[in-house]
Amino acid sequence: MTRERPVPPAERRIFCNRTLNLRAIKAIGYDMDYTLIHYHVEAWERAAYEVTRQKLLVLGWPVQDLSFDPELVIRGLIVDTERGNFIKANRFGYVKQAMHGTKPVPFEDMQRIYQPVIVSLSDPKFHFLNTLFSLSEGCLYAQLVDRLDEGRLGDKLDYAGLYKKVRSTIDEAHVEGALKQEIMADPAKFVDRDRDTVTALLDQKYSGKQLILVTNSEWAYTSAMMTWTFDPYLKGEIDTWRKLFDVVIISSRKPDFFFTKSPLYEVVNDEGLLKPAQRVERGHIYCGGHASHVEAGLDIRGDDILYVGDHIYGDVHVSKRSLSWRTALVLRELEDEVRALRHFDDKRIELERLMAEKESLEQEHAWLRLEEQRVRSNYADKPESTARELGGRQREMRERLARLDEAIGPFARSSTELTNRRWGLLLRTGNDKSHLARQIERYADVYMSRVSNFLPATPFVFLRSHRGSMPHDA
Ligand code: IMP
Ligand code: MG
Repeated sequence: MTRERPVPPAERRIFCNRTLNLRAIKAIGYDMDYTLIHYHVEAWERAAYEVTRQKLLVLGWPVQDLSFDPELVIRGLIVDTERGNFIKANRFGYVKQAMHGTKPVPFEDMQRIYQPVIVSLSDPKFHFLNTLFSLSEGCLYAQLVDRLDEGRLGDKLDYAGLYKKVRSTIDEAHVEGALKQEIMADPAKFVDRDRDTVTALLDQKYSGKQLILVTNSEWAYTSAMMTWTFDPYLKGEIDTWRKLFDVVIISSRKPDFFFTKSPLYEVVNDEGLLKPAQRVERGHIYCGGHASHVEAGLDIRGDDILYVGDHIYGDVHVSKRSLSWRTALVLRELEDEVRALRHFDDKRIELERLMAEKESLEQEHAWLRLEEQRVRSNYADKPESTARELGGRQREMRERLARLDEAIGPFARSSTELTNRRWGLLLRTGNDKSHLARQIERYADVYMSRVSNFLPATPFVFLRSHRGSMPHDA
């Protein structure tokens, strides 16, 4: 008897920007951290934050009383390192929300500063919060901007210098041993293990796809974390994570992995001993190298390969732009986002009704104003009414509009506070798509909350993109 097909809830679907026939994909490449392995974000980011804070404490910085706040920033915000601000921009690059340090920037100030600015990420003063790893960094920088403003960081640092210092200290925390040791010592505290991810990869493997792992993590960490997360769910012919992957690349240095022809090394033993290698061969583990090594070694290119990662720039943007790989973005926050939108649905319908009424009243008001102008200036086709009558009707219209605005206010406000009271949804800015949403549209062929969403979709799925959504489509 066949079993019923599992139908995932909306938040666990695979969303498609560009049509993707998974049957035609010969190889699937995976990123590891926050892609194949999802961390308990608050625990991991708090640990990274704490290691970094301790390093600053040793240097004598006034950070004794600081603690990680997981709500302070969200992925997709842009740090304006020149001004010590965090901004949320819409898809055109117009700034719609801003925070200086940990304090919201009032609307008028934001307009004054950013009205002439169209945010472009190619401008080095802007730094995009690309991944969940950015939450610890963003939080610490915001808190330290407050301290800089209070004059507690001396008079040598400006906002850009402070950002550099936070960046380099976080960098050290990731690269040095202590943080990773803490994670490896107690993976259960940090990793959100998911059996369905392992099954989804087995489905793909047995359907004939080559599986590749490309991670920036180093060997000891990759090996320990993959063993803990994958091996308990593997048995039989493929009983370890290493047999699951045709090729593994550690310390890949993405995004450079997609740009720069770095030397390739093979990892030759469990201790991570390296020896120079010329080419990638199936069944081996490598360190560094370049994406073209993978293409040549597995005889695949361009749209034969789907690469799945969580870093919108380092995984998705560059693999698409440099090599035209098919791309999938993993965005765990999507689950909360879709659920929040669903719960807001009744309010959304009411808000849309009120907004439609407002638009119609505004249009009516504009027409009456034009009629009055024509009467007063005595040109074109004029109405029977007097200017005074027309003025009176406009006043009445304005009163109705004011009452309507009062009704709209609370709905509109709560729509901007979904999932995060300060920043709202990741993929929206006001009524429009956010800058992050635009990046996803441009570079990710598909996006989903987690890798295990592949499981109900199957390796044979034909994902079709939606019809366009230009204003006239509605
Ligand atoms: P991936 O996502 O599997 O490619 O691996 C991400 C790796 O990069 C993890 O080992 C992280 O600890 C590390 N990482 C994340 N952010 C930073 C950083 O700012 N500096 C250095 N390493 C980082
Ligand atoms: Mg990652």
